[in-house]
Amino acid sequence: MKFSMLSQVFSQMFKKPFTNRFPAKYAPKNTTKFLEEVGAGRAEIIPPIEVPNGFRGKIQYDKEKCTGCKLCLKVCPSEAIEFKETEKKIKIYLARCTFCSQCNDICPVNCLSMSNEFLLADSDKYSKDLIVE
Ligand code: SF4
Ligand code: SF4
Repeated sequence: MKFSMLSQVFSQMFKKPFTNRFPAKYAPKNTTKFLEEVGAGRAEIIPPIEVPNGFRGKIQYDKEKCTGCKLCLKVCPSEAIEFKETEKKIKIYLARCTFCSQCNDICPVNCLSMSNEFLLADSDKYSKDLIVE
């Protein structure tokens, strides 16, 4: 038992890491400067790997198809969805969303879907990139 574990530990030492060092091989001391260097062609961003099938990224909302039934609001565990009474449409705050996809599953007209987009870091939780409407 112990021996098989040790052989596994040693074999791992010679394998490539499973993690993708995105966006750079080492964390830059200054992200803004790093991005400037990328813009000037003096540094390269390591591209992200492809996301697997069924990945749950940023929600997409087809507003035209939405009937305003409010079912998505009822199942959302993190109260990330707001109902706009005047328009009878919804607004999703991604900073609150747990990406559980329950709103997608319950929507009777399939106007919600999970995209592959995952680069959602933002210093402002109410930025337009983090609000879907
Ligand atoms: S994915 Fe889950 S947490 Fe996010 S808005 Fe839909 S139901 Fe709410
Ligand atoms: S469940 Fe679908 S149709 Fe109903 S309010 Fe939500 S997004 Fe609109």
